Amino acid sequence: MKDAERVGALTSGTARGTAPGACSFRIGRASDNDIVLADDTVSRHHAELRFLDDGRLLLCDSKSSQGTVLTQFDESREVDEAFVTPTDQVRFGDMTVTVGDMIEELRLKHPELRTAYEERAPTLRRCECGAVKREGEACPECG
Ligand SMILES: [Zn+2]
Repeated sequence: MKDAERVGALTSGTARGTAPGACSFRIGRASDNDIVLADDTVSRHHAELRFLDDGRLLLCDSKSSQGTVLTQFDESREVDEAFVTPTDQVRFGDMTVTVGDMIEELRLKHPELRTAYEERAPTLRRCECGAVKREGEACPECG
């Protein structure tokens, strides 16, 4: 289940939508989201994409009715929260987008994000074990 307190701790002391620093962006059907997905199967506030201080990207479901499904290496699973990379695919209701597409849309709306993100996370890769690691470094999960 979703551990809201743990997620809150990860982003404590930071302001939404500001960079540098960890920041989070809302995804959903309502027009006040940072990324608007206009489909009836998408919840009004469906999920959040968080840019952490260490450069990693955390995707968090916002108790959506249809759930958030992450596809990595051709395997799909419903997630409450998961680290993601730009090549991962995410399904919100019936809508499928890539993490990279969402980042690109956020960059258009928040030019400061381009600098902050590219400085901190230029080399994130998905390890064969499913964890996120930096290129050329040992995997934190499988070594
Ligand atoms: Zn690994």
